Amino acid sequence: MTIQLRPRHPEKARKADSAIPRKPHWIRRKKVESAEYYETRRLMRDHNLATVCEEAACPNIGECWSKRHATMMIMGEVCTRGCSFCNVATGRPDALDAFEPGRVAVAVKKLGLRHVVITSVDRDDLADGGAAHIAQTIRAVRHQNQGTTVEVLTPDFLGKGNAADIVFEAAPDVFNHNLETVPHLYPTVRPGARYYTSLRLLHDAKRANPEIFTKSGLMVGLGETLNDVKQVMDDLRAAQVDFLTVGQYLQPTAKHHPIDRFWSPEEFAQLERIARSKGFLHVSATPLTRSSFHADEDFAALKQARQQALANRA
Ligand code: SF4
Repeated sequence: MTIQLRPRHPEKARKADSAIPRKPHWIRRKKVESAEYYETRRLMRDHNLATVCEEAACPNIGECWSKRHATMMIMGEVCTRGCSFCNVATGRPDALDAFEPGRVAVAVKKLGLRHVVITSVDRDDLADGGAAHIAQTIRAVRHQNQGTTVEVLTPDFLGKGNAADIVFEAAPDVFNHNLETVPHLYPTVRPGARYYTSLRLLHDAKRANPEIFTKSGLMVGLGETLNDVKQVMDDLRAAQVDFLTVGQYLQPTAKHHPIDRFWSPEEFAQLERIARSKGFLHVSATPLTRSSFHADEDFAALKQARQQALANRA
């Protein structure tokens, strides 16, 4: 009997293969498999929680999980979008699990996190895009983990009216939505998304609650130029975004968007300098930067930068 496994990315099955280039030495990471790494993995399994660390095949998983930092991915393991860069499985997702917010809250407690990043798949199948579930998760985490700060990395809620307001009302400490790439690459990289919708979402978060830190991330190496990236930085500052992350795109499989090139560490340092000169409160730009990498330290730096900016204005 032949067992037919459902392809992880059915929308990419017919795409021509693109050879995956060898990674330069500054991207390669040593495998870290400490006792804490296995403990983090066991906790996620025991609480039936998915993580973007595993689903996106993140290169930093050894380091993060060894510090018990896992980024939980809620609303299932199947995404309704088919972004060409992303390794998360696509297709028709299951119904939401009403007990998931509670399990996330318990896991955060057991991990002992001071700052947690919670992300999700896109749920275009739901009337509110999953906004109420995200808000419930924020509240559940707060309820069980006093003092823990909460960062959410959300979908764009495209076509869902004012659904994002439900998330803003739950007042996450950080509202993160990644632009991912420059506008002219959206049709190939994020075909289901719209650049200006994503930008407006970030602006809306800040307008809804100026206390919320806003954050966005970009990948480079997809085919953008330095000028393209500078323009996105200007757009993000116009939307009052506080924190920018920039990292190198890594191609998950031969069916994913081909890597255009690897930006060097010196180019990342240049990106960081440019972004800081444009007025972001905080910037992280290194080849291995990911939205949730070192998120707790970055949150502390972000708070300090805001206090400093307020003091300078006084
Ligand atoms: S960088 Fe983020 S996604 Fe990657 S392993 Fe660390 S916490 Fe997980």
